[in-house]
Amino acid sequence: MLKPPPFVNEPWVDFSAPETRQAMLEALARVKREFGAEYDLRIDGQPVRAADKLASLDPSRPSEVVGVHQRGTPELAAQAVEAAYAYFPQWSRTPAESRAGMLLKTAAILRARKLEFDAWLVYEAGKTWIEAEADVSEAIDFCEYYAREMLRMSSPPPVVQLPGERDEMFYIPLGVAVVIPPWNFPLAILVGMTTAALVTGNTVVLKPSSDTPTIAAKVGEVLAEAGFPPQCCQFLTGSGAVVGDVLVEHPKTRLVAFTGSKAVGLRINELAARTQPGQRWIKRVIAEMGGKDAIIVDREADLDLAVPGVLVSAFGYQGQKCSACSRAIVDEAVYDEFLERLVAKTRALTVGPADDPDNYLGPVINAAARRSILDYIEIGRREGRVLAGGGPAPGDGYFIQPTIIAEVGPEARIFQEEIFGPVLAVTKARDFEHALELANDSEYGLTGTVFSRSRDKLAAARERFFVGNLYFNRKCTGAMVGAHPFGGFNLSGTDSKAGGPDYLLLFLQAKAVGEKLT
Ligand code: NAD
Repeated sequence: MLKPPPFVNEPWVDFSAPETRQAMLEALARVKREFGAEYDLRIDGQPVRAADKLASLDPSRPSEVVGVHQRGTPELAAQAVEAAYAYFPQWSRTPAESRAGMLLKTAAILRARKLEFDAWLVYEAGKTWIEAEADVSEAIDFCEYYAREMLRMSSPPPVVQLPGERDEMFYIPLGVAVVIPPWNFPLAILVGMTTAALVTGNTVVLKPSSDTPTIAAKVGEVLAEAGFPPQCCQFLTGSGAVVGDVLVEHPKTRLVAFTGSKAVGLRINELAARTQPGQRWIKRVIAEMGGKDAIIVDREADLDLAVPGVLVSAFGYQGQKCSACSRAIVDEAVYDEFLERLVAKTRALTVGPADDPDNYLGPVINAAARRSILDYIEIGRREGRVLAGGGPAPGDGYFIQPTIIAEVGPEARIFQEEIFGPVLAVTKARDFEHALELANDSEYGLTGTVFSRSRDKLAAARERFFVGNLYFNRKCTGAMVGAHPFGGFNLSGTDSKAGGPDYLLLFLQAKAVGEKLT
């Protein structure tokens, strides 16, 4: 019987060690030699090519093509759902223990190829070394954690036994899962959603983001090597706007696992709710969406913790995390000192190509994101006072200076709208109650932090700061699988908790069997 040891989080490699640094430089060089390769779609285990292609670029050097991919069509999308549906009876009958075993193997392969995956993330997603390493480690954590969770779910606790009956309840998979991840955790979130669907016995149509399809194709290789039959996971690249509706509306789609923007998540939710001719179930939608996350710096905060905590939460991975701090709400008693210290540290941050480990910030993901973030900075200039950054950073890549805009009121667009870039709005609060009120003044509710030494204030925040992931006296990014089950309230999503004990239930349904004993 498969009995893995208790779950522990994957340790991060230490790039300050000279031999690891050297190994990473070699991994970057190896991966670069693979630039420009063409990748196929996979439908029913077969490689498929489309007439049109899409290229993924290195955002640090957009003239360099990382991978060439197929542009899936609506017809190919429908074929992918049909293929996943056809293989479901077979895959769903594979014993849970074998599926969990394949997932543990997936973790082992990712671990063995860790620096190579780090390098792909540096080049295709513009992650700095350490951000890439955190992403790959989280992907390994999801595999290890969900494998154990599946083993737990496969023998649920007994139900009440009626006299003269044998009664039981157990979990079975749902059917075809359409998995649509974002580019910002192109490995961890993609692996997390895909493997949760597979290990629970669903078949998958994986449609990765067009910004990071090469990383997704590499995951396909790993899953196959780990023993997942190729027919259980269809790989479909292409524009979300072109193939998305077909995947979501298809009558044989049973559930959609989506992580991405509010606009796309709400559209998927609406489309999935409409029953199509021939459809025999109510589709399930798991949608994890945007954030406008706030950190409260109270007058009783330790500023030695709060300043670096806000800095790393706001500017790590160029602010392109759903959990990124985009609003600092600071008590007026410490506002000036906090800002002065934060601005000094922000001005010292380095921006440039992500493969150079001396840069703290790499590029933003693509030209459209760069345009949109710079537009928000211009809006912010009218809504507050720019104290750091405020424009593009030099270089050929999509670089933007880490930007702080102070004196921002709650009605400002940069206080309310998700910018998804290195832009922090700072707002003054009269007192702690006012700070809580400002923090909750949002349509989102994903993460938040309170820096304070007051137990009473932390207790009040625990009860009334309305976010799915609340932290005290630490950054609001960097949720760890197992310890911080992750997902938000309000328009941040359906409050699924990835990396937590409830997550796999979202991919399962319970069946009860009662037998009269004669
Ligand atoms: P996005 O919504 O633009 O794209 C997400 C995915 O949806 C991509 O694969 C895209 O191709 C696909 N897509 C686009 N249009 C579609 C359509 N009409 N139908 C179906 N699929 C479609 O988001 P993004 O830019 O990739 O990611 C950034 C967003 O993701 C941010 O809003 C961020 O906050 C959010 N996010 C949330 C979480 C979370 O856990 N809550 C985690 C990471 C990112």
